[in-house]
Amino acid sequence: MLLRDFFIQLSENQLLNSAAKKYGLKLGAQSVVAGTNIEETIASIKELNAHNISCTVDNLGEFVSSKEEATAAKEKILTVIEAIHENGVAAHISLKPSQLGLDIDVDFCYDNLYEIVEKAASYDIFVNFDMEDYGRLQTSFDMVEELSKTFNNVGTVIQSYFYRAKDDIEKFKDYRLRIVKGAYKEPVEVAYQDKLDIDLNFIELIEYHLLHGKFTSIATHDHNIIAHVKRFVADHNIPLDKFEFQMLYGFRTDMQKELAKEGYNFCVYVPFGEDWYGYFMRRLAERPQNLNLVTKQVFTK
Ligand code: FAD
Repeated sequence: MLLRDFFIQLSENQLLNSAAKKYGLKLGAQSVVAGTNIEETIASIKELNAHNISCTVDNLGEFVSSKEEATAAKEKILTVIEAIHENGVAAHISLKPSQLGLDIDVDFCYDNLYEIVEKAASYDIFVNFDMEDYGRLQTSFDMVEELSKTFNNVGTVIQSYFYRAKDDIEKFKDYRLRIVKGAYKEPVEVAYQDKLDIDLNFIELIEYHLLHGKFTSIATHDHNIIAHVKRFVADHNIPLDKFEFQMLYGFRTDMQKELAKEGYNFCVYVPFGEDWYGYFMRRLAERPQNLNLVTKQVFTK
């Protein structure tokens, strides 16, 4: 737990974040980040598509504090949407509201999001709102709801560690949802701390949305949860087109291909860009074994 807190704190360090941006993909981050630019990313998507794996593309970056940075991020995402369309690849967009101005001005953020969702809708491309920490949760949900009054290509994420997740999933039952365990450090007042509690809630939420929801993305590297879902969908005759499994780029790649080969819809979360630092530190926080990636890089140089 101490190591987890340490990496989460590192992930929030602005100074280290800027230094990382300046010096490019380092510390082994290249094995979990698809590229620094759109061309490299499209090439990675094509490789995954060749294995029958679709992608959700994330322009790395979060907790942006200036309008210039937020506007630049919006422009980058609009270019990605164009590239997805032009290249005809099987991919959609994942985004973080805090990258598009959530911490600066909610109306400004909403306008940025509107522009992105509108452009994506014109090409029939889905946009998923990643969920960040608790402080940003309600505003993000509100924006998803507001946008879905006009567009039907918007979905979001339910984080199983939150006590409120059951209420949220009922409310968002008619949405395409990604269900995850939750990646941020949250206090006991709002979130389960114990792995077993989180896992049990995760399973309950997945089952609920598979039975009652629109479309379920089960986002996990946990083989036990995946095995449970496989049994559950078979027992309840849930059609394969009602759900997909999702994993992060570079994680359990053999299992990714295997599940796709077995006929399950599979989608890989493809992060790209120069702003890899916070993302990479959160992956180390989740699984300190990922430190292997770092040590390998340091010692093979
Ligand atoms: P864990 O609880 O980390 O692992 C369970 C077990 O699985 C481990 O004990 C181990 O046996 C096995 N395992 C896990 N990883 C590996 C590995 N690499 N190799 C071998 N065995 C392994 N979080 C958010 O808060 N908001 C989001 O919007 C969000 N989006 C996400 C999108 C995707 C596609 C994914 C995959 C995750 C996302 N997350 C998000 C992160 C998520 O909340 C978890 O923090 C993260 O997925 C780790 O939990 P886990 O379910 O993979 O399993």
